[in-house]
Amino acid sequence: MIKIKKRKFLLLPGDGIGPEVIAEVKKIINWFNTNKSLDFEIDEDLAGGASYDKHGTPITDEVFYKALECEAVILGAVGGPKWDNLEFSKKPERALLKLRKELKLFANLRPAICFKQLVDASTLKPEIVSGLDIMIVRELTGGIYFGEPRGIKPIDNGERKGINTHTYTTSEIERVAKVAFDLARKRKNKVTSCEKSNVMEAGLLWKEDVQALHDREYKDVELSHMLADNCAMQLLRNPKQFDVIVTDNLFGDMLSDEASMLTGSLGLLPSASLGAKNKDGEMRAMYEPIHGSAPDIAGKGLANPIATILSFAMALRYSLDLDKEADLLEKSVQDVLDKGLRTKDIMSQGTKEVSTSQMGDAIIACLQN
Ligand code: NAD
Repeated sequence: MIKIKKRKFLLLPGDGIGPEVIAEVKKIINWFNTNKSLDFEIDEDLAGGASYDKHGTPITDEVFYKALECEAVILGAVGGPKWDNLEFSKKPERALLKLRKELKLFANLRPAICFKQLVDASTLKPEIVSGLDIMIVRELTGGIYFGEPRGIKPIDNGERKGINTHTYTTSEIERVAKVAFDLARKRKNKVTSCEKSNVMEAGLLWKEDVQALHDREYKDVELSHMLADNCAMQLLRNPKQFDVIVTDNLFGDMLSDEASMLTGSLGLLPSASLGAKNKDGEMRAMYEPIHGSAPDIAGKGLANPIATILSFAMALRYSLDLDKEADLLEKSVQDVLDKGLRTKDIMSQGTKEVSTSQMGDAIIACLQN
């Protein structure tokens, strides 16, 4: 077992705008080192298409071992048209899948926050989304994307049959539900668990196991159950009714994408993927913006670095328990938006356009104040 080095981050900028947004995180890490004496150690390496170009593989074993020994991986984004025609095992996205799978990152946390300054960017009415702050916890390593048997098989009548299997065990359900209950305790203390217990046995098990864990260990947290299709509707009708939503891999994939669009701004949304804590309380984790490599704007200084900077704030909070520092960084992002500074993707009338690095500098200026 490779030992985790405290306060060490592995930065994997990746492709497209990845290196531009990670450069701003690097500035912020250096600011914390200089001004808060935090001694963060940084390593940086290639992943995705950039790694394929140099090494012929989307992630080398050496980089993978570096990921194993650091406290958190901070990833920019991978992929782009240059690598679209590679065979599946060489595609840039394989780097992400390998990290998630091998680091056993089973809980994906995606906050959907609607910044008051950007309420007009949502396609929903301001009164529906203003002040929105939801956390979606998606199970990431089980369910139908991984279940066996799977495949496409010929059948007797000459047709073919596609098979995927949706399975969950009690321990898989409980470990992700625990993450949701623990998060809720630090927020508004409310968990909504979503499944399809009306038509799926695995959904019924999900519902019963979440309820049993609640009754055993989390009676102080308000728990409700909702069918996943109803949740999809409720997210559009009245999203502010939710605090933490916990759901499986398939439903989480869809509900988290839907929730992120409530906020209308891809360049602002962070994410975290967490593993289990070991007996020393250590945990492997990866933090990344939810957006992709945005090849259409790469290299032009147009990328919004806020999603990646807020991903780093999540790393401070969840991997290092540095809540005060995470609050400070999140508050500085709010301050910059209050000042009317915007990258091009979130520009509106009366605001001032800044480049990727000017946005990073403005956030540092707010940290300083
Ligand atoms: P994308 O998120 O890269 O871009 C969608 C649109 O949003 C583009 O117009 C882009 O310019 C804009 N955008 C995205 N992030 C932005 C930012 N920070 N600031 C300003 N504008 C931003 O999605 P896509 O175009 O579907 O995918 C492009 C590539 O990224 C593909 O190769 C895809 O496979 C890959 N991808 C990677 C990840 C990841 O690394 N986690 C996630 C999604 C897509």
